[in-house]
Amino acid sequence: MKLIFLGPPGAGKGTQAERIQKSHGLVQLSTGDMLRAAVAAGTEVGKQADAIMKRGDLVPDAVVVGIIADRTNEADCANGYILDGFPRNVAQAKALDEMLSARGERLDAVVELKVDAGILLSRIEKRAAETVGGARADDNAEALKKRLKVYEEQTAPLSGYYQDAGILKAIDGMKDMDAVTADIEAALELKETDIAG
Ligand code: AMP
Repeated sequence: MKLIFLGPPGAGKGTQAERIQKSHGLVQLSTGDMLRAAVAAGTEVGKQADAIMKRGDLVPDAVVVGIIADRTNEADCANGYILDGFPRNVAQAKALDEMLSARGERLDAVVELKVDAGILLSRIEKRAAETVGGARADDNAEALKKRLKVYEEQTAPLSGYYQDAGILKAIDGMKDMDAVTADIEAALELKETDIAG
């Protein structure tokens, strides 16, 4: 099963993807986590991405598309994966479609977590306050404003893109965490028994 979790910063994509991957044998692929690891390791990609991420802008499409193409080819992805934070714009979505069709594969569903803008800000502020020592460089008011703007302008159109493809599942991301997880499982018709086979 190949899934995308779509939603603005603070919508709970990472949290929900982690819960679903654990209980359903999928691998969570967060381009944000991979880029942060590259920055921490000081790789070429990391050096290129560092300043861009701090500002809240998107790193170049070719970089993230390359990362995803490589990572999804690894053995642990054979049973399926959840893309968390990718694609971020229509060009990335098209590149993903091409990559999958060249492999004779397709996306099963796109889960869009819908959360009002006011709630996002307080969630991110909470995340920044709770992350002792390892606070994200982009969880500050200015970068967050930029990330929300980038989301509205570049990522939100993906909702229509996947609606047209007939695979969009819109979920109310403002319910409590367990209720959101249950709604996602229901929307995807996920049962524990689906996994092994
Ligand atoms: P995230 O952890 O998903 O919020 O991503 C943190 C930052 O990493 C973003 O603000 C971007 O700068 C960068 N990033 C993550 N995923 C992508 C992507 N698919 N395309 C471009 N930039 C990305």
